[in-house]
Amino acid sequence: MAALDSPMFRQFRELKEQAGDALLFFRMGDFYELFGDDAVWTAEALELTLTARNKDDPDAVPMCGVPHHAAEGYLRRLLEMGRKVAIADQVEDPRLAKGLVKRAIVRVHTPGLGAEGVDSHDPSWLVALVREGTSWGLALLDATTGDLRMTELRDVAAVVTELARAEPREALLGPGTDLPEVRSALRGVCTTRVEPCDDASRAALECRWPIEGVGREGRDAVAVAVTYAERHLRANDGGPLAHVRAPRSWVAGGALAMDEATRRNLELFRPLRGTGRKGTLVHLVDVARTAMGGRMLRDWIGAPLVDVAGIRRRHDAVEALTRDGVFRRTLVEALACVSDIERIVGKAVQGTANPRELGALRDSLGRVPAIAASVQESAVLASRLPEDVCADVYALLAAWLVDEPPVTQGDGGLIRPEADAELARLVTLARDAKGAIAAMEAELRAAHDIPSLKIRHNGVFGYYIEVTRANASRAPSTWIRKQTIANGERYMTSELKELEADVLGADEKRLALEAQTFVSLRGQVADAVARLQALAQGLAELDALAAFAELAVRHRWVRPVMDDGVALQIVAGRHPVVEATLVEERFVPNDLQLDASGRLVILTGPNMAGKSTLMRQVALLVLLAQAGSFVPATSARVGVCDRIFVRVGASDDLAHGRSTFMVEMAETANILTGATARSLVLLDEIGRGTSTYDGLAIAWAVAEDLHDRVACRGVFATHYHELAALAESCAHVKNLHVAVAEHGDEVVFLRTVREGAASGSYGIQCARIAGMPDSVVTRSKALLRQLERRRPRPETNQLALFGPAPTTTPPPPVAAPLVDPVREALGAVDPDALTPREAHAALYRLRELLR
Ligand code: ADP
Ligand code: MG
Repeated sequence: MAALDSPMFRQFRELKEQAGDALLFFRMGDFYELFGDDAVWTAEALELTLTARNKDDPDAVPMCGVPHHAAEGYLRRLLEMGRKVAIADQVEDPRLAKGLVKRAIVRVHTPGLGAEGVDSHDPSWLVALVREGTSWGLALLDATTGDLRMTELRDVAAVVTELARAEPREALLGPGTDLPEVRSALRGVCTTRVEPCDDASRAALECRWPIEGVGREGRDAVAVAVTYAERHLRANDGGPLAHVRAPRSWVAGGALAMDEATRRNLELFRPLRGTGRKGTLVHLVDVARTAMGGRMLRDWIGAPLVDVAGIRRRHDAVEALTRDGVFRRTLVEALACVSDIERIVGKAVQGTANPRELGALRDSLGRVPAIAASVQESAVLASRLPEDVCADVYALLAAWLVDEPPVTQGDGGLIRPEADAELARLVTLARDAKGAIAAMEAELRAAHDIPSLKIRHNGVFGYYIEVTRANASRAPSTWIRKQTIANGERYMTSELKELEADVLGADEKRLALEAQTFVSLRGQVADAVARLQALAQGLAELDALAAFAELAVRHRWVRPVMDDGVALQIVAGRHPVVEATLVEERFVPNDLQLDASGRLVILTGPNMAGKSTLMRQVALLVLLAQAGSFVPATSARVGVCDRIFVRVGASDDLAHGRSTFMVEMAETANILTGATARSLVLLDEIGRGTSTYDGLAIAWAVAEDLHDRVACRGVFATHYHELAALAESCAHVKNLHVAVAEHGDEVVFLRTVREGAASGSYGIQCARIAGMPDSVVTRSKALLRQLERRRPRPETNQLALFGPAPTTTPPPPVAAPLVDPVREALGAVDPDALTPREAHAALYRLRELLR
């Protein structure tokens, strides 16, 4: 082929122009080829061999390719990397084409339209954001399952929270929504701006759904968001939208709210360090047998309930499953044979489900009657399944599909011949014709006395007779010679040609009939989409509940008592993830009460004692309880929380380009504005990122504000032992500490929570355990003794600093080695002895001193 200006390259360049920033998969024969920069990038990303078209040309075009039949896997990896991929297929039959085969972009895959495949436990959300006046409309669409959701939000903070919850794969940003906060919450996913020229009110009219459960003000914004999402699917995927379900609305306050920092700190879906899921809550909790159940669990963990009745309904179901081991195992084993009905049905609607997937759907549906029967006895479980178990769809697929259908349709063998008389006839004909050819071979050998005669087949001239050179003289003159080869001759006869036509004709017709039958089956499955989705939903719920039950049995979790009160009482609570990872040490359970005995705990204790672990275990326990799970404790009472906040001081957030301390302060400010009396606030070492007194002062004021104004439940882990004094001025504050034992110079971590504040911070002992050189340890001990001699006991001086006005004489100044002139001058002032004018002058003097 000629160089860059060949017709094929011209076609490529035209399509590439259309594809824009999407990678262009250009179909050539059995491959999708990529060219130019696309090829260089993709070869690197997918570890493919980079070659070049016109290798010897100085401006050779880089090129790489993936086999057409394996394209799906490569495609998914590119989507996971956040790339868009445009598929340019041949749109006319190459055998009929005159000149260059016509190609066109038939589909654009974008990360939000199905990076996740069948049987994956992760959702694949596309988010659309729209702003109308003061309202934000947000729509989420999972194109693989047809799950469509919508909500109206009031401000950008709420938007950020919802984005953190959904972790979308792709975003469509309407005018005015492309803000730094939004970008940051989207974590660099593939983003498309919807241009302002898109007439919003027209889009709202276009919306084919009733926008229910959304306030009047936000209705337009939500309708537009929903329309944008659907329009994006239609424009890029080319497929029908029949599997897209009527949008479900949710209200931002309808679930336990957790912001992005809280999710991150609790390691719900991703670990703080590293990749993958290991060490996360979802890794521990997702023991679901089906992908649908896995996604349901993820949903439940990401958005726990806030209504006691709903929570109790889940607990009832889990309890029913924990009580009867045989029953639970029967159910779980049956669920283990159920495939991803939801996504297979989605693919059926889009016309992409393959024979093996429909086979998996059939086998799954075949299990449903047993599942329905097993839960029949338990009303709380049986009510989760719809009445209609799609028996007709099962019967249809069972009648037509072979037991183990192949992945591709191309080679046939997917439809049962006995299901259709015509198909059976064609199959027999093809088989018989092959038999007839074998018979003819035997007959010709005998008739012409050539035992080595063979009838063979090749792609060039079909069936032929081959005899060796030595026997060529025995060939009758009626045979037509086709080819002479090194040691023989090849012939054709008209009888052989007739048989060949039968074989090929029957095979071809059979393949066509099978393909036609399959497409019709797939269409009938697609027609049942709504019923199958309802069934899938029910199975997903049963699976998620069974997973909770299994966790409860496996890890000895108990049913928590739920109510609308504001108490939280945990007896022998454990951190589910840390407990599961400890190998040598045993996890030490701890009690914690946030109730009338004190709802704000100041938790002290040396480094490594277990403070952070305890705080997170409290948050996870509440979250699990409200998600519908049993909890890791021997007993628990949970007054339902509306929000959980978890903050860790001095955590770096360099990725977001803010200084550590600023982040800490911004996050703490968010809590003080966002928390309510029903919230659970866990602050871990807040105020660390600045000088000691600054930090202490801020921590103190924050704790006071949480206590006096917010009045929420909370735990405040701190190394500022001075904060313990808060208990004296705040009625609902109590001190707890994680105990250590001292053996001479050694500290032993007891991991036990006790009343009162810790007696010391044991930093030096920790440093020693950590392997600090002996000389440094000895020197720090000496320095500490010196410092402690200079500095009065914290209880007294800190009270004076931040506590209520002291009634006794003021304590000595805080460890201030230098004499402070302002302080001295101020100390010398006697306010009672000053006239107003003198006081005024004194103030000026003091200000002068400051300079
Ligand atoms: P702190 O926040 O007080 O510095 P951490 O909560 O980070 O301490 O705990 C340090 C380590 O101690 C954890 O990584 C964990 O392995 C272990 N640990 C904490 N709590 C317990 C417990 N209750 N039982 C057993 N090991 C624990
Ligand atoms: Mg800690």
